[in-house]
Amino acid sequence: MGYRYDDQNIFAKILRGEIPCDNVLETEHSLAFRDIRPQAPVHVLVIPKGPYVTYDHFALEASDAEIADFTRAVGQVCQQLGVQPGTGGSGYRVISNAGGDGVQEVPHLHVHIMSGRMLGRMVSAG
Ligand code: 5GP
Repeated sequence: MGYRYDDQNIFAKILRGEIPCDNVLETEHSLAFRDIRPQAPVHVLVIPKGPYVTYDHFALEASDAEIADFTRAVGQVCQQLGVQPGTGGSGYRVISNAGGDGVQEVPHLHVHIMSGRMLGRMVSAG
């Protein structure tokens, strides 16, 4: 409802193989790769392969199979990176930016998984 997907965005080009990425994980419906400008020692992006702009878009309109696959992919990436606090990892933060207030640069849903340093408070003062 009202979501307009721009298939020329950079992650669409990565999904089509037009631009390379440092691949971490690929599943049926999701792809994970390292952020080109890492803001922490570990900084991985997880994206669905489908044309979803934001987390809410995906959560409302993706199929159950896509949602399950994406959620599992986030877990698998955390496992692969060894960041899970439950198994001795140092912890991590998952962030998804959306729209103007969220300061979203790339209009294809992605979650950032960041780890490897103390990340500070959840958001800065402004
Ligand atoms: P946003 O602000 O949309 O949540 O973050 C977009 C992220 O995508 C940024 O952290 C940025 O560094 C990353 N990014 C932008 N272009 C590329 C690219 O071509 N390759 C990779 N791997 N990451 C990118």
